[in-house]
Amino acid sequence: MLELVNVNTYYGNIHALKDVSIKVEQGEIITLIGANGAGKTTTLMSISGIVPPRSGEVLFEGKPIQGMPPHEIVSMGLCQVPEGRRIFPLLTVSENLDMGAFLRKDSAQVKQDLDYVYELFPRLSERRTQQGGTLSGGEQQMLAISRALMARPRLLLLDEPSLGLAPIIVKQIFQIIRKINEENQTTIFLVEQNANLALQVAARGYVMETGRVTMTDSSDNLLANEEVKNAYLGMG
Ligand code: ATP
Repeated sequence: MLELVNVNTYYGNIHALKDVSIKVEQGEIITLIGANGAGKTTTLMSISGIVPPRSGEVLFEGKPIQGMPPHEIVSMGLCQVPEGRRIFPLLTVSENLDMGAFLRKDSAQVKQDLDYVYELFPRLSERRTQQGGTLSGGEQQMLAISRALMARPRLLLLDEPSLGLAPIIVKQIFQIIRKINEENQTTIFLVEQNANLALQVAARGYVMETGRVTMTDSSDNLLANEEVKNAYLGMG
């Protein structure tokens, strides 16, 4: 469904992604793990067109999308939930969700999807008229995911959904991520610093170090790998 082939991305002179190649199959959850500053967010930005790669290819359903403007990439069915959530703080929950659907013209379907996200996150349903900025961190993460779902993505890019949240909320969010994948066949590309959690929900994983992919395997094998354990799983 998505393929990165030898992607190189720069911030000015900083070579942030070095020959990154990643494949995501239709319907799966894959994860990209790595330390702070390894290039995980940059990988997502390179896919969604926010920071276009300088060389290499990003293929979405076989079609090159590198260099396309982000809104066109969204309208093809590829949607990113950015790190730090970035919801619209002054808009209400329901207005935030409307923004997620603003490129769509199928209003009956939009209404159906709105019902679906409110069912997925009853807390948001109770808070429809509340300003986004007044929600708790966990609720804002739920809103950010829901807003992305309102674009009807076929591929959802999630950047650190666990960041800054209490373990119980993180557990809920991860259950919902699994549910979204199972119920809608939405393919999910998950970036996480919490490698343990990410490898439990994903079937496969990629490990990134200083801008390069250094390892890829099934999640089970990565969880059992000594190097991965030492570096990312905090088990020694
Ligand atoms: P984190 O989990 O901390 O977000 P990450 O793996 O997502 O880490 P990136 O944010 O992709 O890492 O950063 C990769 C490298 O690119 C880092 O060295 C970072 O300092 C650099 N970088 C990121 N954004 C910019 C920017 N806007 N300008 C210059 N350098 C940047």
